[in-house]
Amino acid sequence: MDCLFCKIINGEIPSFTIYEDEQVKVFLDINPNTNGHCLIVPKKHIVTVEDLEDSLATHILKVEKIIYQKLREKLHIDGLTICQNNDLGQDVKHYHVHLIPRYKDDNWKMQFNQESLKEPEEIFKQITNE
Ligand code: 5GP
Ligand code: ZN
Repeated sequence: MDCLFCKIINGEIPSFTIYEDEQVKVFLDINPNTNGHCLIVPKKHIVTVEDLEDSLATHILKVEKIIYQKLREKLHIDGLTICQNNDLGQDVKHYHVHLIPRYKDDNWKMQFNQESLKEPEEIFKQITNE
């Protein structure tokens, strides 16, 4: 399959792998947001969260905790932002979780166009039909 992350998983493309087990590989992002930004990637080719089996989700959560501890120990990080893109905003169509270390002075910000947003009450009504 012509999938970038499958190629990294099977070693066709090199990566800085910091953790691996039978279900996932964790490697450093090639274009990091902060030092230590890494990706948890399941070895099975799935695309979005809708394809993710509960047992694999549970395993990924365990790995998130393992990596958090490792990065705290080795890089002395002050926090960890965990995120995962689906469809729009997902450049690599092989499911992956971003682990983005936070540092007290990192100035890292997610930017949104907040001026164009509706009130939460209006959105609530749309979602619940109330
Ligand atoms: P997405 O936008 O799909 O959520 O994130 C894809 C991530 O994969 C990006 O942060 C990007 O820097 C990273 N990435 C893209 N190509 C490569 C690669 O060849 N090697 C590694 N290690 N990361 C990659
Ligand atoms: Zn793949």
